[in-house]
Amino acid sequence: MRYSLLAVSYEKIEATTKRLEMTDYLVELLRKTPKDILDKVVYLTQGKLYPDFVGIEIGIAEKLAIRAVSKATGQSEKKIEDDIRTTGDLGETAQQFLKKRIQTTFFQQPLTVQNVYEHLDKMAQASGPGSIGQKINYLAGLLANATPNEAKYIIRTVTGSLRLGIADMTVLDALAIAYGGGKETREDLERAYNVSSDLGNVARTVAEEGINSIKKFQVVVGNPIRPMLAERLGSPQEILEKLGGKCIAEYKYDGERIQAHKRDDHVTLFSRRLEDITGQYPDGRELVRKYVNAKETIIEAECVAIDPDTGEIKPFQALMHRRRKYGIQKAMEENPVSLFMFDALYVDGKDLTQEPYPVRHNYLEEITEKGDRVRLAEYLITDDLDELERFFEKAVEEGCEGLICKSINKDAVYQAGARGWQWIKYKRDYKSEMTDTVDLVVVGAFHGRGKRAGTYGALLLAAYNPKEDIFETVTKCGTGFTDEDLEKLPGMMKKHQIPHRHPRVLSTIEADVWFEPRVVVETIGAEITLSPIHTCALDAVRKGSGLAIRFPRFTGNYRPDKAAENATTVNEIIQLYKNQPKTQVT
Ligand code: ATP
Repeated sequence: MRYSLLAVSYEKIEATTKRLEMTDYLVELLRKTPKDILDKVVYLTQGKLYPDFVGIEIGIAEKLAIRAVSKATGQSEKKIEDDIRTTGDLGETAQQFLKKRIQTTFFQQPLTVQNVYEHLDKMAQASGPGSIGQKINYLAGLLANATPNEAKYIIRTVTGSLRLGIADMTVLDALAIAYGGGKETREDLERAYNVSSDLGNVARTVAEEGINSIKKFQVVVGNPIRPMLAERLGSPQEILEKLGGKCIAEYKYDGERIQAHKRDDHVTLFSRRLEDITGQYPDGRELVRKYVNAKETIIEAECVAIDPDTGEIKPFQALMHRRRKYGIQKAMEENPVSLFMFDALYVDGKDLTQEPYPVRHNYLEEITEKGDRVRLAEYLITDDLDELERFFEKAVEEGCEGLICKSINKDAVYQAGARGWQWIKYKRDYKSEMTDTVDLVVVGAFHGRGKRAGTYGALLLAAYNPKEDIFETVTKCGTGFTDEDLEKLPGMMKKHQIPHRHPRVLSTIEADVWFEPRVVVETIGAEITLSPIHTCALDAVRKGSGLAIRFPRFTGNYRPDKAAENATTVNEIIQLYKNQPKTQVT
């Protein structure tokens, strides 16, 4: 197939302002294309060479493309740069200069799509020393044989400025008409795309094998599945109504979504946008390898940063260091990740995407060997509004964004690529900010693990209730302690240690070690939230709930000047809760 055919179609598509006409031109192009290169043509029309998940991009910098144009046309780079100032587009500049050249050239080999694709592929894959020169040579070679019009589109393709705006959905529309047998086949084509994320493969399959093959499209380990997304509602009542009165509610962890594909020991992790991010999470990959007991599987999980010493969840920002190319090892030590599994899409030969969620959840439970750092997302099956609200509070307090409530109906299949009402997220509208420190009483502690073995992982802290003369727990704090603090703490607290909860301490939490309420520490957190666990101000703001400090941190100040009874009071915590500045959550 001549590349000029592609260039002519591009020109028509570029010129139209009507979406339907755009689809018509695309249909025309797809019909003219030999079936065995339909995949390549589809990728090219979207400015790609492969589906996104393969991770090979065409792009070269404009500066290098200018050098190639200079080489192919004999014009100086300076002249080309000057011309771009007028045209605003290297593609057009190349076209103009090639027009001039053509009058003096006698011999040209017509470009084929295969030929262009191969050259672009070689360019994309060239790496290492000397690769820049190679890329320029490949491009200049192509341009030397291109017509001016072809050159314009080749340049735009390699510089990532094709700008035809052909979305996945337009290609699917066009495929349904060109090869599916009509618009009614669009849904089958879309499903095939959603489970394979490979539009080129869908195109070639429907053209070569027909729509029945498309209907049988199965998920394949290694090809990411387009993720199912959630709708949003503002109250447990609306959510339960929408989900038929009962649902499985899960913590909505605030990390990075990963889709893990495992074949034997080989594990690939894909992001929400289906990019291969295995390199960012070598620890995540190991966890899947070790704790997922299936030969071949595709599972989804939220990858969350944890405090290595306390095991507590850290805010999403802690994962930012993973985005960099270098320093992953350090990021892994500072903020290792935990995996909270929430779906199984394929297990040992069985495509589960058409199974209802409870079935998928059972599979997930079966293949997940629980460890400290691998767990199923915390969940609750409920038809009770209060229970749901409290579960939500608990999720927020423990560092999550809220809940995702999922349908447990028979039709609750995995809706790949869709944002639907089978999953409903319940997040807060507002996030508050704690601006002041508080002085809290150490009433208990939890044993540390790993680096903190032999000392405490976290302290159980309480506020003072002068009316009842008791101490009510408000947070578990494991952050902000220096190594020196940690070393000293057990010795320092030993004289206050008692064998059971102190009678003046009100707690629903079982600490590993209990203390008489004596030592006061200064603490600050991200915000004060409602809590179904902590006893501070129980029932004062909402019936059945107390208040808790989220993401607490010891400021480094012990307050030996304060007696336990001088600590921050429960009433002060209520006031702080009410006065917190609020910002809208998006
Ligand atoms: P948001 O910005 O709220 O995360 P989003 O558009 O990325 O929105 P949504 O579909 O709205 O995605 O919410 C689902 C996201 O929540 C998932 O992409 C996933 O990363 C995350 N998540 C955390 N915990 C769970 C869970 N238990 N089940 C499903 N998704 C979860």
